[in-house]
Amino acid sequence: MAALVPRPPPRYSAAMIAPPETRIAHSRRVACDGDEGALGHPRVWLEIGAAGYVDCGYCDRRFVLANDAQDDSH
Ligand SMILES: [Zn+2]
Repeated sequence: MAALVPRPPPRYSAAMIAPPETRIAHSRRVACDGDEGALGHPRVWLEIGAAGYVDCGYCDRRFVLANDAQDDSH
């Protein structure tokens, strides 16, 4: 009878891996310019919607809206 060996979860599914970096945002509008040499990119403004987070299209950094964030949209 073969021993049941736990298999590690798949590590290569792009849909499952976490983005490279997560930042906590304290307002719904955040600016991202990559700010590190290799990941630097032109500054873009991102708006966090109902999902509570937004991913930067340039560097894949994720901005998560803090629980204590002020709603500055009005
Ligand atoms: Zn970025």
